[in-house]
Amino acid sequence: MSDSVEQALEAVDAEADGSAEEMEADAIVGAVGPTAAIGIGQVHAKLVYRAHLERVLRDAASLRALLEHMREVLVESHQAHDIVDEDCWYSCPKATYKDGSSAYCGEDPRDVCFCGADKWNAQRDALLTEIDAELRREG
Ligand SMILES: [Zn+2]
Repeated sequence: MSDSVEQALEAVDAEADGSAEEMEADAIVGAVGPTAAIGIGQVHAKLVYRAHLERVLRDAASLRALLEHMREVLVESHQAHDIVDEDCWYSCPKATYKDGSSAYCGEDPRDVCFCGADKWNAQRDALLTEIDAELRREG
């Protein structure tokens, strides 16, 4: 479990412990009957709340871990433009060799991607931006 989940649950437990001490003090001064019933109801409500909170926090921690994993995969998924060494006609017009020379020998403009790399990389970058914003928001 993540530190943030532990901290949140510890805060709930501390509050419940504080309520238990108050109830104990009430019992010492002789508070019984309806007051005790209200105290038991409060403890029950806190236990239900704690269980619900723990489930929500665990789900949030799992989703955060999933987002972090997705981010790692996306960072590694940058797509280069297709190069077909056997026939440069079939290379993407935007494809270049390491020396910067064009890998395409067709007649289409060199600024148009036919292989899908530009579309993929734009979607990937947009998704990374969304994931980074979500991870920052969650702290
Ligand atoms: Zn391309």
